[in-house]
Order: sequence, then C-alpha cells, then structure tokens
Amino acid sequence: MSLRMNDTPPQCKPNRPQTAADSHVGYSKSQATPFDILEFAHATIADHLFPGDLSVDATAGNGHDTLFLSRQVGTDGLVLAFDVQETALASTRKRLAKAGCPDNVRLIHQGHESLALHLDALKNENPDVPPLRAVMFNLGYLPGSDKSLTTKPETSLSALRQALDALAPGGICSLMLYTGHAGGREEAQAVLEHVEQLDIKAFRCLRSEVCNKPGSPVISLLVWKR
Ligand code: SAH
Repeated sequence: MSLRMNDTPPQCKPNRPQTAADSHVGYSKSQATPFDILEFAHATIADHLFPGDLSVDATAGNGHDTLFLSRQVGTDGLVLAFDVQETALASTRKRLAKAGCPDNVRLIHQGHESLALHLDALKNENPDVPPLRAVMFNLGYLPGSDKSLTTKPETSLSALRQALDALAPGGICSLMLYTGHAGGREEAQAVLEHVEQLDIKAFRCLRSEVCNKPGSPVISLLVWKR
C-alpha cells in the first residue's frame, strides 16, 4: 500500500472527486439515506474524505464504520481501527473480507486513548503519511455483546482531544452518543460539555438527534476543524 501526500491545495482539489460516487467508492450524497442518523454522519463525512486520505475508526465494534471509511479512502488511503475487544476486531475483519475491501485497514487491539502514539508511529514509519481527514467514534457497548463493557468518559475524552488535535484543517470528527445504557448519559454529557467549549474560531460543531423517537436519544455530533 502506498501512502501518498496529497500536495494539492484544498481549494483546488483537482484530484478529489466531487462526490465519492466519482471514485470507486459506493457512497455519495445521492446514494445516502440521511434519515438514519448514522447514515447522515456518513453522508457528511463522505464530503470530507477522499481516496488516498488517512482516517480513524476509534470504536471498530462490528465494523460498519470501518468498512465505510475503507471504501472512502480506497487502495491508496489508510484506516486505523481501534477496539479493546478481540471479538469486535474479529467481527470487523470478517465484514471487511466479505465486502472484498482493499488492504487499507490496520486493526489495532488497543484503546483509542493510544491514538496519538499510533499516529506518531505512522509518521515515523512514513513521513509522507497523508493528512488525517476523518475520525469516527461510535460510543457505548458492542451490539450483541456484554453491555457492561462500554466506552468510558475519561478515555473517550482523551481520545477525542487527541483526534481533534491531529485532524487536518478541513477534517471532520463524528461522534455517536448513546444514552440508553448504564453510564451512557454521563458519557454523552461529558462529551457534549467538551465540544460545547471548543473555540468557534478553530472548530464548528453540529449536534443532531432524532426528536420524534420515544426512548433514550441517540445524539450525533459532527466536529469540523477549520
Ligand atoms: N453502541 C453502538 C456501537 C458501539 S460499539 C451501536 O449500538 O451501534 C463500541 C465499541 O467500542 C465496542 O466494540 C467496544 O469494545 C469499543 N470500546 C470500548 N472502549 C474502547 C476504547 N477505550 N477504545 C476503543 N474501543 C473501545
């Protein structure tokens, strides 16, 4: 796999497709169904992430986001996907193989709080590593698994800080916050408090949630780095 530096100024983007559909990628504005909150996040990220880019799935889980990111960055790009559970990584590995994904994903069996260390190691390995354009967090527990094994406010916040620090200008960070499980509401609150105090000159943060669904809200945050 080659890691090429994208040396074109962001405003020109001659090599960057107008939509992901112009590349090999199976995602674009027109194909997305933005009435699902996660699809909405994917559709927005698709406008910021292109073939050859670097991206991070901070919570691989069952691999839905990893697969999306892998398709988006293509054979010349790279995805770092973190999870603390081997079962999650196995499930992600299986999903990628089934989808016939290129060899552009590194599955990392460590907490996302080690993100900066891994990005530094990547830079040492290849100084031409492409800019980090997208980071996705899907917090909570692994669906279909032990509900007590969840992401935690302290480590999620640490990883979020590292992600926002490492993102390239114009890059985007997405967070899905779940409030229905034990500790979920507190974690969502901690993340919201953190993003709400981000300097508007440096970041723009969009919050969305399904407002006509009974039960515990799922909140989507999109943080765009200026
Ligand atoms: N709740 C979501 C899925 C979340 S999956 C949904 O319903 O779709 C969250 C994943 O984060 C799990 O697979 C879990 O193992 C992982 N995780 C927990 N702590 C982590 C950490 N510190 N770093 C990386 N992944 C972590």
